[in-house]
Amino acid sequence: MNVYDSNRMVDILSEDGYENTDKLEQADIILLNTCHIREKASEKIFSELGRLREISKERKNKGLNTLIGVAGCVAQAEGEEIMARAPIVDLIFGPQTYHKLPQLIKRAKGERVIDIDFPPEDKFDYLPAAKPNNIVARGLTSFLTVQEGCDKFCSFCVVPYTRGSEVSRPAEKIIAEAKLLVSNGVKEITLLGQNVNAYNGTIRGGKRINLAQLLFELAKIDGLERLRYTTSHPNDMSDDLIGAHKDIDKLMPYLHLPIQSGSNKILKKMNRKHTKEQYLQIIERLRKARSDIAISGDFIVGFPGESEEDFTDTLELIKQVNYASAFSFKYSPRPGTPGAQMKEQVPEKLRAERLSKLQAILNEQQLNFNRAMIGKIMPILFDKIGKEKGQIGGRSPYLQAVHLEAPKELIGTIGEVKIIAAEKNSLKAELVK
Ligand code: SAH
Ligand code: SF4
Repeated sequence: MNVYDSNRMVDILSEDGYENTDKLEQADIILLNTCHIREKASEKIFSELGRLREISKERKNKGLNTLIGVAGCVAQAEGEEIMARAPIVDLIFGPQTYHKLPQLIKRAKGERVIDIDFPPEDKFDYLPAAKPNNIVARGLTSFLTVQEGCDKFCSFCVVPYTRGSEVSRPAEKIIAEAKLLVSNGVKEITLLGQNVNAYNGTIRGGKRINLAQLLFELAKIDGLERLRYTTSHPNDMSDDLIGAHKDIDKLMPYLHLPIQSGSNKILKKMNRKHTKEQYLQIIERLRKARSDIAISGDFIVGFPGESEEDFTDTLELIKQVNYASAFSFKYSPRPGTPGAQMKEQVPEKLRAERLSKLQAILNEQQLNFNRAMIGKIMPILFDKIGKEKGQIGGRSPYLQAVHLEAPKELIGTIGEVKIIAAEKNSLKAELVK
């Protein structure tokens, strides 16, 4: 979502004549869009600001001013602290106020500015549509935020505090944005939300619309070839949505459905409000609806109170589900969350040991999943020049990176390939059609 938000910041500043650059030394404005989900992510900001201080100094020697802003969830949660610790920062703003960027930047040229309110208005109503050349430059796949924020309050998680409560965008706005993306060459759209499957928007004069219905609407767009959505919560995996996986060809057979832990005791302490058994049932129903669906997930190891037995339950669950890929993390106590206050914090060393055990199994599953593709014919969205000469690269329905020898004129199309080799992070293929 930070990638999407950063693009929208570029969109609004484009209106004022700014252009995006990836060369920091050339930038008059540098915005650091930050993530607060784990401590490691938020600590990175201060080292990054140190680097920016040097760049700003060098530019100053050349008579150039540099405006430095910190955006996103760390700005939201620790804005005052950043202001105090990093005098180089001119501007702080949160994930819900970036539609005000043009005014904020004007003000920040005269004084240090901080805006981390949750404004009553919806930022999306004030953001301009992306310019065609910006969309084209971003490539064939695009994110599109449909829902933001979270009301679930898992006890480890900062999201409900930093992104705010759940808000769904009106369907017409989403459909219009999707059409604009497609008319500028986008072939694949991933709908985004912290709880994307809790999407509960409106359409046609206020009628309610859920994520399954929204997917049906979007699937009607000519030229849009692939749809995905992320991240889903098990409790919002409705019958409708499971059915959509059967009925919508454009919906890719790949679902990110995190459970975090395979122990019911820990799930309860995490305030996930579902059991391991309920999760497994959902997976079973999904596989019944779409037999080729692959599942990915998120795991947290070392949540407070996690015993050896609880951890073993997680490993068992992983074996039962057989993931195509997954993200896994050591528990990171976050300020202001109930988890951080809990007794029985698991020592860092044990967290690290458990993480590497768990990742060994997940890595093996991912490699096996990729190897099972060898010999298969698959549709690949070719989206870039390959690393080696004469090669192009693309993505499978399961988001696997695929490379093959083929003319670069095919980039932008979907072609059939035969998979001939597989590693953990990529597949090698031959062009079929
Ligand atoms: N809304 C999604 C997840 C959003 S956060 C969901 O409910 O599944 C993305 C992932 O970061 C989470 O799934 C979790 O695995 C991880 N995460 C969140 N808070 C964390 C913390 N305090 N420590 C470690 N990992 C965390
Ligand atoms: Fe965080 Fe996801 Fe839980 Fe919401 S549902 S609190 S975003 S982990």
